[in-house]
This record gives sequence, C-alpha cells and structure tokens, in this order.
Amino acid sequence: MNPIYLDNNATTRVAPEVLEAMLPYLREFYGNPSSMHTFGGQVGRKVRGAREQVAGLINAAPEEIIFTSCGTESDNTAIRSALATNPGKRHIVTTRVEHPAVLSLGARLAQEGYRVTEIPVDAEGCLNMARYAKSLTPDTAIVSVMWANNETGVIFPVEEMAAQARNRGILFHTDAVQAVGKIPIDMKNSSIDMLSLSGHKLHAPKGVGALYVRKGTRYSPFLIGGHQEKGRRGGTENVPSIIALGLACELAAQKMTRENTYVKFLRDKLEDSLLEKVPRCRVNGDRTNRLPNTSNISFEFVEGEAILLRLDEYAICASSGSACTSGSLQPSHVLRAMGVPFTMAHGSIRFSLSIYNTEQEIDTVIDTLPGIIENLRALSPYWEVGDAICARVE
Ligand code: PLP
Repeated sequence: MNPIYLDNNATTRVAPEVLEAMLPYLREFYGNPSSMHTFGGQVGRKVRGAREQVAGLINAAPEEIIFTSCGTESDNTAIRSALATNPGKRHIVTTRVEHPAVLSLGARLAQEGYRVTEIPVDAEGCLNMARYAKSLTPDTAIVSVMWANNETGVIFPVEEMAAQARNRGILFHTDAVQAVGKIPIDMKNSSIDMLSLSGHKLHAPKGVGALYVRKGTRYSPFLIGGHQEKGRRGGTENVPSIIALGLACELAAQKMTRENTYVKFLRDKLEDSLLEKVPRCRVNGDRTNRLPNTSNISFEFVEGEAILLRLDEYAICASSGSACTSGSLQPSHVLRAMGVPFTMAHGSIRFSLSIYNTEQEIDTVIDTLPGIIENLRALSPYWEVGDAICARVE
C-alpha cells in the first residue's frame, strides 16, 4: 500500500526528475570535480551549475553558496564561524523554539563559557520582539533565529530582526531549512548574513545541504581539509547529491506558487475539517503567519503516539509533538515554550504536506481520524462531563 505521506517536515520524497538527474553521476561520471583531467572537469562544471541553481532559489550569488552535508552542519558552521571570527564576543542570541541543530549547539556553547539568550515565544508561537531588541548587546557575536518553525510552521520576522542586528554590528544567521522552497527568499535585498538549507526537505536526497554566506562576511571553516569549496569546507564534494540539490532548488522555484495555492488549500481543508468534526481540538501556532504546508493540531485527552500508531494502521504518516525523553513522554520543547496546556500538548500531531499529496488522500484522513480520536478517548482515563474534566473510574 502506498502511504499517505504527511510528514514532509521530517523528510521529503526525492523528486523523480531529481533522482534521474543524479544517477549518471553515480554510474558514469564519477570523477572528482577537483581533478585536472577532462573526466573530472566535466563534473566540476555540473557542480558549478548546481551552485547557480541553489543561489537562484534564494536570489544570491553562486559564490555565496557553500555545499555541506546537511542543515545541521550548515547551522553549526555558521554559528561556530561567527564565534571564531569575533573572538572578543561571548554572547549568542537565539530562540527557545529552534531545532536541536541550533539549541543543542547553544547548550554546548554555554558549557564552553558562552552566554546564550533564548528569546521566548507567546501562546501563538510568535517571538517576543521587545525581548529580542533588549537582548542585543555589544558582546553579542551572532543571532541565530529560524525562518520558520519545523513543528508549527510559524514564520518569524527574520528580515526585521536581521536589520536590527546589523544596526548593532551583529552577525545574523537564519536556519531556513523549513522555509526554503516553500516561501520566497531574496538574499540580495536582505540584512541576513548566513542562511542554512537542507536538501532532504525540498525533494533532494538526505546528506546534502548548503550554507549561504553573504559576500564580505568574515568566515571560518568548520571542516578543515582540502581546498574544496574555495577552502571554506574541506571534503570531496558529494557530487550526485549536489546535482540533485541544484535541480531540486530549480524545481522548487517553479513550484512555489503551487506550494502556496494547492498545498495550502489541502492543508486548510484538512485542518478546517478536523476542527469541525473533532471536539476539543485546536491548532497550535499563528494561523495567519505560517508555512503553507504545516498544521499542528492538538487533540485533548489522547496521546499523540497512540494517534500515530492508529494512523499507521491506515498507512497514514504524520508525526507527534512529543518526544520520548529518558523514558518519560515529554511534550515538545516548542509546545512547552508556547505554554500549550499539558492535556493538549500530549495529543499534538503535526501534518506536513507536499505538492505530491492529493485531495483524495486528504479526504481519507478526514474520514479516518475523527473515528480514531473517538475510540482513543473512550479508552482515556480522563474525559469531560459537562464543563468539568473528570478521571474515569472503572
Ligand atoms: N533545522 C530545522 C528547522 C529542521 O527542521 C531540521 C530537520 O528537521 C534541521 C535543521 C536539520 O536538518 P538536517 O536533517 O539536514 O541536518
């Protein structure tokens, strides 16, 4: 059975054209792009082409693109580079709702003696901008704020934040792993200094990403090695995946309108129908300022994991907002930062769609999920009687 795949913020399918484009570089054209001979040189030209395609999607110059292995590497590189090039500064500003690629690095940097400020969010998942403005100090080396949140899809005002940072002489990095390909990004008219993206979130394979570094930004490489990427990232290039990333970026630019019309229509249909059919559920995150493909819904008094297991029986793939931490089920750090009540946070499901979803698939989910929730609630130890929440005593 083909799955109904609604977990595209976790990873996406490789676009068929992208797969076709990379195969010759695994089979026939396996040369090293740094080699002097023609066999390697032709591969080098393709890598240059891919760099132009990636740059094109975010309106950057090709030489501002450094290929990496993933979004996590891009995030780590950007932040470590800012600290290495500003050795006198010991402060980092980020948010409470970043991906672990930034949050865990922040925790590590705190252990190394840096001061890390995490900007809080409100109940809608929006950043407290007053706190942000106050957090910038002469000691701040870098601000790292995600463009869009992977769990709720909420979009942050990174352009405005970057302009504020620039006015204070502070570098600004954005983790745009979830935003690139879904919403327009224009680095030529931006104050952002560095931006991370990841191939497997936009229909390229896993294991390839890129870091945009604005021309003129002081930079220190993370991977020290050969002269690849003009000495900015050691390691022989992952040529087939780089070629795949290039084409995926070109296709994403072509399909961006579809993402913001068709995909958004499917997402809204799913969300509105579930809100109508299922009592005691709600959408997490600012509904007006969100990625077009993401919906995070809490179903009160049910465990997210139980919902996922039941959905799995129908080959419906989504993800829950909880993470199993040291044996206890903790609601996600994003929902906790938003102050989502415990009984809601535990029953949260993230649906993330792509251009490959069909309306029929969405209709199947709309027909299936309400019954699953009803059944699970019948088993729940807590349920409402009138307006009160009661423990069920058997
Ligand atoms: N940043 C965000 C917002 C993400 O959603 C992810 C992946 O889920 C990453 C970074 C990490 O990207 P990668 O899996 O390519 O390392």
